[in-house]
Amino acid sequence: MAYQVLARKYRPTLFSDVVGQDHVTRTLLNALAQNRIAHGYIFSGHRGIGKTTIARILASALNCRTEIGSDKRPTPEPCNACESCLEIRQGNAVDVIEIDAATNRGIDEIRELRDAARYRPSRDKYKIYILDEAHQITDAAFNALLKTLEEPPDHIIFMMATTQPEDIPQTIRSRCQHFSFHAVKLDDIVGQLRLIATAEAINADDATLSLLAEAGDGSMRDALSIMDQAIASAPLAPAAPGESTGRPVLSANEVRDLMGTVSNVIYEHILEAVSENNSADVLAIINRLLDAGNGAQQLARQFVRYLRNTTVAKITRLSSEADATGIAADLLQISPEERKRAARSAALFTEEELSRFLAIMLRTFDDLGFRQEQRFHLELGLLKLVHVQRLIPVEDLLSQLGAPPSNNPNIKPTARATSAASAPTPPTSRPAIPPSTNLSSRPERSEVERPAGPPTPSTTAKATTSEPGAPRPNSGTWEGPSSTPSGQSREAEGVAGFSTLNTSSESRGFSPGPSSAAPQKSTEGALALAEIPQPTAPAQPGPHLVPAQSPDLDALQNTIVDALAAAKGQQSASDKLADATLSTTPDTLNIHTTVSAAMLPLLLNAEAQAIIKSVLTTQNLKLRLNLIPGAPQAAAAPKPKRAAAAGSAADLAAKHPVVQQAQKLFDAEIRNVIDLREKD
Ligand SMILES: [Zn+2]
Repeated sequence: MAYQVLARKYRPTLFSDVVGQDHVTRTLLNALAQNRIAHGYIFSGHRGIGKTTIARILASALNCRTEIGSDKRPTPEPCNACESCLEIRQGNAVDVIEIDAATNRGIDEIRELRDAARYRPSRDKYKIYILDEAHQITDAAFNALLKTLEEPPDHIIFMMATTQPEDIPQTIRSRCQHFSFHAVKLDDIVGQLRLIATAEAINADDATLSLLAEAGDGSMRDALSIMDQAIASAPLAPAAPGESTGRPVLSANEVRDLMGTVSNVIYEHILEAVSENNSADVLAIINRLLDAGNGAQQLARQFVRYLRNTTVAKITRLSSEADATGIAADLLQISPEERKRAARSAALFTEEELSRFLAIMLRTFDDLGFRQEQRFHLELGLLKLVHVQRLIPVEDLLSQLGAPPSNNPNIKPTARATSAASAPTPPTSRPAIPPSTNLSSRPERSEVERPAGPPTPSTTAKATTSEPGAPRPNSGTWEGPSSTPSGQSREAEGVAGFSTLNTSSESRGFSPGPSSAAPQKSTEGALALAEIPQPTAPAQPGPHLVPAQSPDLDALQNTIVDALAAAKGQQSASDKLADATLSTTPDTLNIHTTVSAAMLPLLLNAEAQAIIKSVLTTQNLKLRLNLIPGAPQAAAAPKPKRAAAAGSAADLAAKHPVVQQAQKLFDAEIRNVIDLREKD
């Protein structure tokens, strides 16, 4: 006998043999028992889950020549012994006509069908049309069928199998009984595969059967097709006594090779490396996989599935110890072993992180479809997973906006006390100071610091640990970029004096003509500077306070601003310099900017610094350059570019506390306000 594929060989011939569609078979058996037969049926659902099979069983049951309730046929199940049942099973019954609607979809074929339907069945009780892929039938053809369905002859029954029931016209659907088939559950598929493996004398362990079932993805036929392939390529075990040949042995690895997939252990390792921020390991793993000949797209596809399962495991709080029950078991149609793996990976991340990973990998998978350099895109996608972990979710940032600023009323303008603007900056690990800045001179900035004036609402004080006059610890070195709170406050320390200055000169931004105001601004800044009381504390010890060179800082600032403005592409640097405050120590020119540490190297780049240095050289000043970033706090004082009319949308926006907080947080300015209120 010719070889028959497993899916056909083991095709159920009884309703009770159909796996995973109990809701359909139960209803049909009841309908048969009560002889309530409809003239149109729609069976919808994924491929390979039993739609056509059930249509054939129903046809057999309807046309079976054995009476229901007789000894040979106690239930409405077909007897599978009579002439009619056998013919239907072999596919040559005269009165059961199977039509592939994908190829016979036009109006001519359907008209033919309609005309033939008028004649009575030649032998059996019903003339049954099984239309496979019924959604392919054209609208005109459906209309030709409609009349027959509206007033069907008693002997006519249509059964339509489709994967897209929504493509069948409503007029047809409303005249049919619609059965929606479910994807077959993993356990059901595994059970069926086990039965078949036993019947076919094949050695396969549970892990392999699970793998085959997972590959089927809810489709029994797909799982059986892959099993067919796996059996064909399986090695034979040594023949046991009494057997002529050995049994085929299926192994998980071979099945994976066959499907071009890799073990999920790999993905567990990748996620472990991601959780450890270990980009190198991630790249090494993916390199091994690609070198072994795995396709980038297939790897991404499998990773997307793994991430999906991991995300579900997280959401359903799946434990890596106990097996899944309830919703987790429903959603995770994978083997218990794989569920535990997913739970282990899920424990490494938050739900938000996993959702983000899934989004990134889905995008990567999509991208891979039409990219040339697939390898790079896959690597980039995986590196994004590592990086996205370090980012602060914008939700977290926004939630900080609502937190009330902590005020410390004990700010005293003592010589050494410095106020740290503790703006709600995110605790990122970005460098607190640009690399181009002169690090060694940084600690000295406190020598020229002005005392903190009246604190701005969200300014808190932080006293430095060093005693007045005592050598400052680490005075020669700076710890470098640091994500610790102390690194943060250090960054802020440098501008504490300026933040005060900024507050007191709040109104200057309202001067008209912001573009031409650069030099003017600096004078205003100087005015504001003059308003600040000079420190009265005599504890300011000597040498540093009396600079060897005491250049006219205002004039110097103007010169630098002009020089930058004259240079090509340095207008923003010029603007920022105009906003800055200058101070000197014997050998250093400190420029306290309002620019955040992250922006400083971009705005005052090497070119700008070279211009500033050349100005110093031409003025015969032997000063090192020290650029000090502003805390977000410093730039946060409301500084609208132009005065907004009271009551206008821009005015209201600028005054809104959330907007102000956001400005501080992101060191932002309001560029454009769109008024969406109803106009009178
Ligand atoms: Zn029969």
